[in-house]
Amino acid sequence: MNKKNLKGLDLTELQKFVEELGEKKYRALQLYIWIYSKSAQKFSEMTDISKEFRSVLASSAAINNLELVTESVSTDGTIKFLFGLEDNLAIESVLIPSIKNKDGKDKRLTLCISTQVGCPLDCKFCATGAMGFIRNLTSGEIVDQVIQVQRTTPKRITNIVYMGMGEPFLNYDNVMKSIDIINDDRGLNIGSRHITISTAGYADKIRQMADEGRTVKLALSLHSLDNEKRIKLMPITKKYPVEMLIDSLEYYYQKKHSRPTFEYIMFDGFNDTPADIKAFLKLSRRIPCKVNLIPFHSISFMSPNGIGASLRPSPTQKIETFAGALREAGITVMVRRSSGQDIQAACGQLAVIESKKLRNKI
Ligand code: SF4
Repeated sequence: MNKKNLKGLDLTELQKFVEELGEKKYRALQLYIWIYSKSAQKFSEMTDISKEFRSVLASSAAINNLELVTESVSTDGTIKFLFGLEDNLAIESVLIPSIKNKDGKDKRLTLCISTQVGCPLDCKFCATGAMGFIRNLTSGEIVDQVIQVQRTTPKRITNIVYMGMGEPFLNYDNVMKSIDIINDDRGLNIGSRHITISTAGYADKIRQMADEGRTVKLALSLHSLDNEKRIKLMPITKKYPVEMLIDSLEYYYQKKHSRPTFEYIMFDGFNDTPADIKAFLKLSRRIPCKVNLIPFHSISFMSPNGIGASLRPSPTQKIETFAGALREAGITVMVRRSSGQDIQAACGQLAVIESKKLRNKI
């Protein structure tokens, strides 16, 4: 008999499940709290549930946990987790070092999570894109990245970014369900303003999110405001040109009054020129925004061709000049450190290398 995996079910689905087993509805909330808030890995840990019901659960249901395959710690404190899935595929999550308060106490601990195995969007700077698309993650697999990483550290994960492998908006329903569980105070209890969803540019989904009144934060992987250049980097731009994206972000801002964040990987001589700065300044007059400038992690190990082979990181000086010009115009700019370069911490790098080994286990 196929056992029903309870990880990833929301409270309503759990209620339906326990009622089908002839149990009272309140059992569902007990299960929900054990699975998400208390990170139970198996039914035997659920000590306030009767032994009889636990044995019914053990015979009819399962709690599927991600398998932690490797945990790589960078010299800069970034930790990359490689998880094995039921079908011997691999995904990764990255824990970004805490930001400390002036008094030295941890202020923020951010986990970057994946939403797909591989990705169909084929961005030319991305190892996951070069891997192609394999499948969407279930809501349980998305939530479990947070649960499993939290189990490895006594520090509380305070922030979640949907910025790992995959395009979250191509797995919209599972992503939104996972957000509801992560945000729920009976679930993982991480505030919606501490959750960021990052898209490569699905203008229709940006509008949908605004219409649904969701309070999570939004980031756009922008990387160029010039259509021709952006098409070369991110083929999705053919479907959603820059102007259409900006319109959707303006709509989002007007509805939500929440500034979007633009992620901008800096490529030497490609998108770090004075013309690129000018385009950014024009955009910021239209949409109040925050900007993250990101040093490029080379994906030369993937032997990319076309433009992917010619991309080089911008020198630090150029990044500083770019940041300075934006700051002068009043834009909030963060220059990200090049986190975890020694452990292939950029999107998809480790999973590409390791999933081949995992698949050889089949
Ligand atoms: S950058 Fe993001 S959207 Fe683009 S290919 Fe990589 S995972 Fe997909």
